[in-house]
Amino acid sequence: MARLFGTNGIRWVVESHNPEYAIRLGVSSGIFFGKEKLAIGKDTRTSSPMIFNALVSGLLSTGCNVIDLGIVPTPLVQYAVKKLGLAGGLMVTASHNPPEFNGLMVFSGDGTEIPRADEERFENLFSNPKNNSAAWDGVGNCTVENSVQPDYKDAIRKCISRDMGKLTAVIDCANGAAIEYTPGIFTDAGCNAIAINSEPDGRFPGRMPEPVRENLGILMSTVRENGADMGVAHDGDADRATFVDETGNYVTGDQSLAIFAIDALKQNGKGYVVVPINTSKMVEDVVVSNGGKIDYTAVGSPLIARRMMKNDATLGGEGNGGVIFPKHQFCRDGIMAAARMLNIISSIGPLSNIVSELPKYSTRSEKIRVRPELKERILERVLKESIGPVNDIDGIKTETEEGWVLIRASGTEPIIRITVETQSEESCGRILTDRVNYLKELMGNLS
Ligand code: MG
Repeated sequence: MARLFGTNGIRWVVESHNPEYAIRLGVSSGIFFGKEKLAIGKDTRTSSPMIFNALVSGLLSTGCNVIDLGIVPTPLVQYAVKKLGLAGGLMVTASHNPPEFNGLMVFSGDGTEIPRADEERFENLFSNPKNNSAAWDGVGNCTVENSVQPDYKDAIRKCISRDMGKLTAVIDCANGAAIEYTPGIFTDAGCNAIAINSEPDGRFPGRMPEPVRENLGILMSTVRENGADMGVAHDGDADRATFVDETGNYVTGDQSLAIFAIDALKQNGKGYVVVPINTSKMVEDVVVSNGGKIDYTAVGSPLIARRMMKNDATLGGEGNGGVIFPKHQFCRDGIMAAARMLNIISSIGPLSNIVSELPKYSTRSEKIRVRPELKERILERVLKESIGPVNDIDGIKTETEEGWVLIRASGTEPIIRITVETQSEESCGRILTDRVNYLKELMGNLS
């Protein structure tokens, strides 16, 4: 059975998959959910209307009813599923991938991405197509929904508690799905909001849609030129947000996650903060010193969300700018993250000061290409030869006096990634070189 789902949904290069592929995904989705009502959104990609229409055709053919949300952020689809009491939802997006990609995310009735067991059921339906066409009088219908979008905006606005009249923010929407959301919400809060890359354009002419440092040069310079208090950048579907401080410096995803954790623990007094195993120790440090408990999961935001439901967590998130605010909803929401950061800056001052008070670590990583069939054997050997406490929920994480080392195989590419975090540049580089040499030697011995 072919595996369709990666860590966040299904992704493909548009040219290599014809519209029949999307129709088949639609039919599989229809059978997967039964003759239920689903909400569907799409991002601004050039291929999204084509894929959306094919997908909807497949769904309607099985008797599913569809609510068309239009171009919306991914977290809005998740919000709509819960708000409208639907069986599930779908989002046509390839998130932060380059423009030639597209993809599909599948949500359960609780608004969270379906768990792995359900992904397997979906993959099984896709691999073994059945004729599930409804009769002429049983075909589903598609209706346009315009009421949940303002509700979603209100839900975010409620979380901005202060008057932002004195603050200026630059918002980089990456020509993506946040355009109708973050700038308007900031303006409504009284903030002087300057929007860039704010025309919907699936070619992403302003910048590539991943909100990482190397793509944010224009955001950084616009913050400096305007003397803004912050800059925020979304990915293409706006479930992520990364930040730039008032001096134009990039704030890492681990740093913003630590800032959100401190804020959440100040409000709640205690509770779990759920993060994946590859998160900086900085986050654990601030969680513990603010009276909370850290809980590590394997990598993947759906796993974080489901753990958060289980342990009634205060906050969860990833070091890539994806943050989950459980009082709002159990999924990553970049628009909520942007609003919360605006709130934090307005109450405790310049972002560069907040960042400077966080614990400091050096983190470096390197990837090594491996033959796919060797991945498992290499990790088995690493586990066998590890000294001291080992965490093997996702890869092999070992703690040393100087910090930690994580050796993890990619789920989608033939690579093993080595991440090292210590308190000094020198030891970080030294340990990374040592571990890379160790793995290369191991690969030589095994092959
Ligand atoms: Mg995304």
